[in-house]
Amino acid sequence: MSDSLLTVVIPVYNEEPWIFENIGIIRNYILKTGIRYEVILIDDGSTDNTWQVLQKLAESYPGIKALRLSRNFGKEAALCAGLEAASGDACIIMDSDLQHPPELIPEMVRLWKEDGYEVVEGVKALRPQENLVNKVGASLFYSILSKFSGFDIKQASDFKLLDKKVLQAWRSMNERNTFFRGMSAWVGFKRVSIPFSTKNRAFGESKWSLFKLFKLAINAITSFSSLPLQIVTIMGLIFLLGSLILGVQTLYMKLRGIAYSGFTTVILLLLVIGSALMISLGIIGTYIAKIYEEVKGRPRYIVAERVESRIPES
Ligand code: UDP
Ligand code: MG
Repeated sequence: MSDSLLTVVIPVYNEEPWIFENIGIIRNYILKTGIRYEVILIDDGSTDNTWQVLQKLAESYPGIKALRLSRNFGKEAALCAGLEAASGDACIIMDSDLQHPPELIPEMVRLWKEDGYEVVEGVKALRPQENLVNKVGASLFYSILSKFSGFDIKQASDFKLLDKKVLQAWRSMNERNTFFRGMSAWVGFKRVSIPFSTKNRAFGESKWSLFKLFKLAINAITSFSSLPLQIVTIMGLIFLLGSLILGVQTLYMKLRGIAYSGFTTVILLLLVIGSALMISLGIIGTYIAKIYEEVKGRPRYIVAERVESRIPES
């Protein structure tokens, strides 16, 4: 047995019926690496009996730590809670629904240990049979996001192995509103990606509603890009140019004695400028809201309970 420690962070939200079995499967693949491990399970304020199952897991297996957040803070916050509790030399982040194939764990660990990569990223190869809204939504989301933020994270997933150093760098990022995929791309380091195909969720439903996805998109864009703010400036410039041309034309007509017969231009201008102003204010408002949230400096999550398994490793 080697003396380095692997932490596996898994956020869990309302997964009571299958979580016990899933963690068992994941654990078997971790055991194959032969490395010492800890599994940190974060109950993201589940409303079913997930927490009881996590406690049972901690009683059944060694090396399990479970945290219960005081309410549903969302996957991003749950990940933060897990990563901050992680003490391993490397840390794997994965979903609890087996959509991130645990078969890849030994390979990820090998790439980290033997080839010295500091970030091993799981990259989605293809997404079979999702409904149209999700498909269009996801591709639109990622194409807008990669345009706006300069990161190509279209196929990126939250399935990753991070070295301790990377985790340290991640911890030094203080923002309250986190977008894990963007942040772990931003820190850099020596990285390699391994493709995996996402299977459909074996049990239950995806916990992402369209609204949650939209919120994530806005958060991702405003966290990683100030381009929308600059677009406002560019739009302002374009309108200035337009109004200059129109102003000259109006004056010319006036001097020639050909007056306007209607208010068409006025109305059009009012509409266009009005909507441009409102959009601009909206964008600025979004950023100010973000600043407000960051300034408040609230904790990203609140832990309500913790359990740890006391079974010695054999
Ligand atoms: N999850 C969470 N909090 C939430 C929503 C989801 O901790 O508010 C967890 C969930 O239990 C799962 C992972 O995040 O382990 C991914 O969720 P899901 O499978 O629903 O998302 P998808 O695979 O559709 O992206
Ligand atoms: Mg899933």
